[in-house]
Amino acid sequence: MPFAPICVACAREMRCRKNGFFFKDYQAAAIWSGDLFECEGCKARVVVGVGREPVVESYEEGFDRAASHSEFELRRDKPAVVRVIELPPAAGGRGQGEPPFTRTTFGSNGRD
Ligand SMILES: [Zn+2]
Repeated sequence: MPFAPICVACAREMRCRKNGFFFKDYQAAAIWSGDLFECEGCKARVVVGVGREPVVESYEEGFDRAASHSEFELRRDKPAVVRVIELPPAAGGRGQGEPPFTRTTFGSNGRD
């Protein structure tokens, strides 16, 4: 991969914030793992590099433990609230006291 994921809005490569980022798929049928990237400009986040197989499926042993480490469950409905996940500062960070992440609420845009 010659580049990290690129933020279109900022024209910047994103920084990997976490490897082994667990999330639940739809209806929490399984737990998957990917890499969490964040744009240092606008703080947009994406999960990429998700494996071809889930870490564990709901009927398997260890599901509950993996689920407790999952950050969210995938959803298809229109988002009303953007959930912000707190992360520790990146290793070797700039140490400039980044502003804390805040919870942001967006209303429906009413177009659909
Ligand atoms: Zn950005």
